[in-house]
Amino acid sequence: TKEEGNHRFRFFTSDLQVKLLEKSFLEMELRQALDNKQFSLHYQPQIDLATGLIKGLEALARWEHPERGFIAPNRFIPIAEENGFILQLGAWVLRQACRQAKAWQDKGFLPLRISVNVSMRQFIQPAFVEDVKKILAETGLDPAYLNLEITESMMSDVQQCQPKLIELQQAGISVSIDDFGTGYSSLLYLSKFPISHLKIDQAFIGELSKENSMIVKAIIDLAKNLNLNVIAEGVETSEQENFLKELKCDEVQGYYYAKPMPWNEVEKFLNRT
Ligand code: C2E
Ligand code: CA
Ligand code: CA
Ligand code: CA
Repeated sequence: TKEEGNHRFRFFTSDLQVKLLEKSFLEMELRQALDNKQFSLHYQPQIDLATGLIKGLEALARWEHPERGFIAPNRFIPIAEENGFILQLGAWVLRQACRQAKAWQDKGFLPLRISVNVSMRQFIQPAFVEDVKKILAETGLDPAYLNLEITESMMSDVQQCQPKLIELQQAGISVSIDDFGTGYSSLLYLSKFPISHLKIDQAFIGELSKENSMIVKAIIDLAKNLNLNVIAEGVETSEQENFLKELKCDEVQGYYYAKPMPWNEVEKFLNRT
C-alpha cells in the first residue's frame, strides 16, 4: 500500500540521514582532533619467522575521541582521504613515527625498521618525496630505517608511480606493497619497480582454505623468484605459523606475536625480546 511505502521510505531516509550526520560529525571533528592531540600511534612488531627476532614495527594511527572513545582507522581514514585531511594527518603520522624511531635508537634500542602507511592521495602529491626527505632531515632518522607501505592499486599508474619509487630508492627509503593479492597489480611492474617487501593480505591468512593456501604459496614463490621479502599479516594461530614456516615465509605480523601497542608497551616488548 501507499502508506506502507511511505513508511518504508521514511525509515530508509532517516537511516541514511543518521549515517550522513555521523559522517559530517566525524569530518568536522577530524580537523580539530589533530590540534587537540587526539591522535596517537600504535606499533605492531614484524617478526623474522626463522629466528623469532623482531625486524620492524608498523605504525598504525589511533584516534581517541573524548566522548566516543577509540574510533577505528577503517572509519576515519576513508573520510580523511575523501576530504583531503589525510595530507595533514599523513604528514603528522610520518613525523611522529620517524621521531619515535629516532628516540628509540637514541635510548639504545637496537635500530629497527619503521613502516608507515601512505595513502594514494598523499603519494600522488608532487612534493611527496621531498616532504618525506624533509621529515627525515628534521627528525634525524636514517632513511635506511624508514619503510613506506603503499597498496597495489597505487602502482597501477605506472607513469606516476615509477619515478616516485625510484626517487624514494635513491633517497634510501624502502617501499612495501601492502594488502598484496587483493587489488590489481601487474606482475611485470612488480619485477621492475624497486620494492622491498610484499605483504600478504590478512584475508588469505585468516581463512587458510585450500584456495587461500594455494594463493599464499603462490605469492611466496613469486616473491622469492623476484627477490622480494614476504610478510604475512594477520597471523593469529600456531597452525597458521606452521604453515608459513613450511613455505619459508620471511616475516610475520599478527596478534599471535603481538597486538599494535603504544610506545611505552613497545619498550617493554623490546626489553623482553
Ligand atoms: P593495514 O595497513 O592492512 O594494517 C593492518 C591491520 O590489521 C591493522 O588494523 C592491525 O591492527 C590489524 N591486525 C594486526 N594483526 C592482526 C591479526 O592478527 N588479526 C586481525 N584480525 N587484525 C590484525 P588497524 O590498525 O585497525 O588499521 C586498519 C587500516 O587502516 C590499516 O590496514 C591501514 O590501511 C589503515 N591505516 C591505519 N593507520 C594508518 C595511517 O597512519 N595512514 C594511513 N594512510 N592508513 C592507515
Ligand atoms: Ca599496512
Ligand atoms: Ca595490510
Ligand atoms: Ca588494509
